[in-house]
Amino acid sequence: MSTQPVVGELDKIATDARRRIESAPDKETLEELRVELLGKKGVVTGALRGVGVLPADQRAAAGARANAVKTEIDQQLVARQRALEQNRLEGLADSEWVDVTFIPDGAATRGHLHPLTQAQREITAIFSRLGYQVALGPEVEDDYHNFQALNIPEGHPARDEWDSFYLTQGGWLLRTHTSPVQIRFMEAHPPPIRIIAPGPVYRHEATDAGHESQFHQVEGLLVDEDVRMSDLVGTIEYFSRSMFGADRRIRITGDHFPFTEPSIGAAVSCGICKGAGCSSCKGGWLEIMGAGMVHPQVLRNGGIDPERYSGFAFGMGLDRIAMLKYNIADIRRLRENDVRFLEQF
Ligand SMILES: [Zn+2]
Repeated sequence: MSTQPVVGELDKIATDARRRIESAPDKETLEELRVELLGKKGVVTGALRGVGVLPADQRAAAGARANAVKTEIDQQLVARQRALEQNRLEGLADSEWVDVTFIPDGAATRGHLHPLTQAQREITAIFSRLGYQVALGPEVEDDYHNFQALNIPEGHPARDEWDSFYLTQGGWLLRTHTSPVQIRFMEAHPPPIRIIAPGPVYRHEATDAGHESQFHQVEGLLVDEDVRMSDLVGTIEYFSRSMFGADRRIRITGDHFPFTEPSIGAAVSCGICKGAGCSSCKGGWLEIMGAGMVHPQVLRNGGIDPERYSGFAFGMGLDRIAMLKYNIADIRRLRENDVRFLEQF
């Protein structure tokens, strides 16, 4: 027996193995090939055993060739395995990619501020042009600041108009108006005072197209020397024309509030019916604010000398202002947060 047949057989094994490894479609097939070629009962293992029975002078050359084939096949198996893995990853890139810049049609519409926020910011901007600053106060108030300091003692009939939500302890209540901010600001600041105080207020009442149990007010207070009613009327006119435009008419009437003397009411012509009268207004008019000269006792309650200083105050419903500004017929729409409604503004 010569070396040639063994070497020739090994060459055939190597060629055959290379072809099959290179065309193996998956890892499972590769594993089967590894067992078939290099396993204990494998073809290469058998050939190596055959080397042992060769004549001594041929053994070395045949053994070296057999080991070389074994190493070669081993490396090819590893290379093919890597290639299969690489193909799998590239396949993933094709089949499972995600375009992070993809935007579904219509899903990226740009939002905007709620009409109440828009109205509040516009009111703030108008009054800041007149030198007013924004003041805030607590929504949970004590009886003194919400009522007593504003000339509404216990048992006063005006309390019936401001039925509130009371906390079960301590006599605290949800403030029924932003007027207590007047007292709190006067307590802490000497005149001259020019503030507006926007914020939520609460009333315990049934809801309809014009009323909600929670709404927003904007309070205004100006205290200085020699402040007159004409200053107040001029301020209301400036505000109304800035907010609603010159085509809306303004009506000033006498009114009564415990904390102002004299008191007035200001109304603006209805933008829905143009003053003809509709379900959103009273005979073509919408009241926008109550106002008046600050009662001397209220100034005193705020620590201010009414002999030296005078002032005026006003309070308006932000929701009502927004309804007027944007011709909204039902106040309840403002808090339903129906985007079909909100996106109109
Ligand atoms: Zn109307």
